[in-house]
Amino acid sequence: MSKKPLILDIKGNSLDDGPGIRSVVFFKGCPLSCRWCHNPESKSPRLEILFDAAKCVACGACAWVCPRGALSAENPFFVDRDRCELCMACAGVCPSGALSPAGRRMEQAEIMEKVLRDKPFYDNSGGGVTFSGGEPTLFMPFLAGLLKNLKEKGVHTLIETCGLFNLDRFKALVLPFISTIYFDLKLVDPGAHQEYCGAGNNRILENLARLHTLSRGGRFEIIPRLPLVPGITALGENLAAAAEYLSAHRITRLNLLPYNPLWIEKLTKLGLKNPYPAEHPLMNWLPQEEMEKCKALFSRYGIH
Ligand code: SF4
Ligand code: SF4
Repeated sequence: MSKKPLILDIKGNSLDDGPGIRSVVFFKGCPLSCRWCHNPESKSPRLEILFDAAKCVACGACAWVCPRGALSAENPFFVDRDRCELCMACAGVCPSGALSPAGRRMEQAEIMEKVLRDKPFYDNSGGGVTFSGGEPTLFMPFLAGLLKNLKEKGVHTLIETCGLFNLDRFKALVLPFISTIYFDLKLVDPGAHQEYCGAGNNRILENLARLHTLSRGGRFEIIPRLPLVPGITALGENLAAAAEYLSAHRITRLNLLPYNPLWIEKLTKLGLKNPYPAEHPLMNWLPQEEMEKCKALFSRYGIH
């Protein structure tokens, strides 16, 4: 794998990814493969092509330039991904943005130039820059270069992580330049984590506990986040196990993330079938009353 990530997007003016007004840099590639991933285009570190049927005006320009004959309205996903060589000629001529690359190589200087344009907004709102994904720690030296540069300029830095990384390397390269870590705690049972996220969770749980201990020094803060996925993470036994784990490590803050099924529409854009019938729990939003019940459970353990 390349040492430099593909960048999926840089979103400005975000109010949802940390304190104040922020820019969010999305890296492509993740060591987990969660069944409910809200950004399925961020799972693979490799370049992919997206097709959005709702934007296509059927002009046929793309099929004319494709050197591989990979595009056809007869194909339910429009792009034959076995033929496509990802040259992106089609995306270059598409007048409506229906075809687009998922991922773009960007140098550190280009990313810095883009995010620093909004520095006055960060300064006035207590905001900063968030690194998300995908998993930004898959590319630690590249990430560290950006974080160091931002820290030197007095910008608040935050990473959103799945927690699966080598902690010694993280401490040496990345941690010195981080203000806040949003750390995902999804499933406590190792077997369930393996089944639904594609990897075990021993290292994740250990990293969370050790980073929380380090954060007591006050140099950075760490806030665990639990996505409430119906039928998977939002089950009572997982929530109780998560509350026990947090209590045992004297962690008293947790962000609960409400589930939404909008990611399922993105599967088609990537040429993937939706495997779930309409009545499947993953096809529905998490009801507000469920959210309140989950909050109440954690409150009983003194976790806010
Ligand atoms: S990326 Fe290139 S090969 Fe793939 S569908 Fe588009 S034009 Fe054809
Ligand atoms: S060029 Fe774009 S709008 Fe035209 S047919 Fe191809 S995908 Fe559709």
